[in-house]
Amino acid sequence: ENVKEILKIVVVGHVDHGKSTVIGRLLYDTKSLPEGAIDRVKRISKEKGKPFEYAYLLDAFEEEQKQGITIDTTQLQFHTEKREYVIIDAPGHKEFLKNMISGAANAEAALVIIDANEGIQEQSKRHGYILSLLGIQKVYVIVNKMDLIDYSEQRFNAIKLEMNQFLNSLKVYPLRYIPVSAFLGENIALKSDKMPWYDGSPILESIDMFEKDKGLEEKPLRLPIQDVYKFDNRRIIAGRIESGRLRVGDEILISPSRKLTRIKTIEYWTDNDKRDTAEAGMSVGITVEDEFFNKRGEIITHKDEAPVISDVFKVNLFWMGRNNLVKDKKYKIKAVTQEMECEVVSIDRVIDATTLEAIEDASRVKTNDVAEVTIRTKEKLCFDQFKSNQNTGRFVIVDGYDVCGGGIVSGVEALTNEVS
Ligand code: GDP
Repeated sequence: ENVKEILKIVVVGHVDHGKSTVIGRLLYDTKSLPEGAIDRVKRISKEKGKPFEYAYLLDAFEEEQKQGITIDTTQLQFHTEKREYVIIDAPGHKEFLKNMISGAANAEAALVIIDANEGIQEQSKRHGYILSLLGIQKVYVIVNKMDLIDYSEQRFNAIKLEMNQFLNSLKVYPLRYIPVSAFLGENIALKSDKMPWYDGSPILESIDMFEKDKGLEEKPLRLPIQDVYKFDNRRIIAGRIESGRLRVGDEILISPSRKLTRIKTIEYWTDNDKRDTAEAGMSVGITVEDEFFNKRGEIITHKDEAPVISDVFKVNLFWMGRNNLVKDKKYKIKAVTQEMECEVVSIDRVIDATTLEAIEDASRVKTNDVAEVTIRTKEKLCFDQFKSNQNTGRFVIVDGYDVCGGGIVSGVEALTNEVS
């Protein structure tokens, strides 16, 4: 009861624009730091002959985590009255992209930090590209170090205009621009009186305004078939419910073969319990009224909420293979329980994941490159757009026996969602 909801936020920004300081301040102001961390930072700052560095707080925090239970060191937590926050401090783009695309880090929202004094840098723009690639739409732009420009409204507006134009061109529409001084704590947890011209909220109050995605159980039903067992003369379809809920009597659609039937029973393997509803996260066995030939890889949904069924998909992928990803070679694609031969029909854009620079030669995708490619599968598969369902909008590519890449289904324009 009263379990607080959790929102994961990634913080990106050009190096030295103040990422760590913003995060450090948020942890400090919400009293979320481990005991002793503040004293330790005071000591370190003094030893280095520097003023108190909020950025060092992160190091202290991470050290603490390493000693304790295994928590991912790049995830920092704090909470407000409203909810729990997990801050994903992306150490590098490569790691971040890999984690996001593989599902290890599901950030729903993002803060993009820009140094008001230095202005928008190439890196800031590339971060915009990452957000657009991953379909993250909940974005605030934080204009930091306002103290260095005398809290100038004019300068803030100029940065806002330029960044907005750029991000909009990528179909990213920031919800807010917040002028702050992380170092001095202006507009972080408390509203600053240095910028009376700003009528918005400080960061802490603003992030509470991010609207959380619907929970998995609220989304359309997705039950990928894992196996079909024969048991007491009945065929039991087994699988894990990736999203949504199901109920005995529901009219369901089995894709891509597009068979319609109804759920007869829901069974549990573990305790032989019978029940009449089940929801996201549960592994269930079900029986259906019409005993068609069903097989592993098919996806059960409700009748009017079919996934995208196609053999051509536009995707964004992160490549980890030792060999390059190339066109006209056979690979295997795996997505939930689906497995199918596939090939790349076009490589539309390649980006070096470390520098985030576009690579001219788009004839192949090398290790640690991110690419926008079009894939054709041998037979039709079912997908959702990553944006609407992360579990069924994601896949991995297998080359020989090795998983060599992971990706997400992106552009809906390119998908042929034919309905029979
Ligand atoms: P990161 O590389 O983006 O994590 O940047 P840091 O948080 O490490 O900050 C880089 C430097 O900028 C540090 O020396 C900070 O003290 C300084 N800094 C961060 N925020 C502010 C600010 O609001 N005002 C001023 N004057 N300096 C800041």
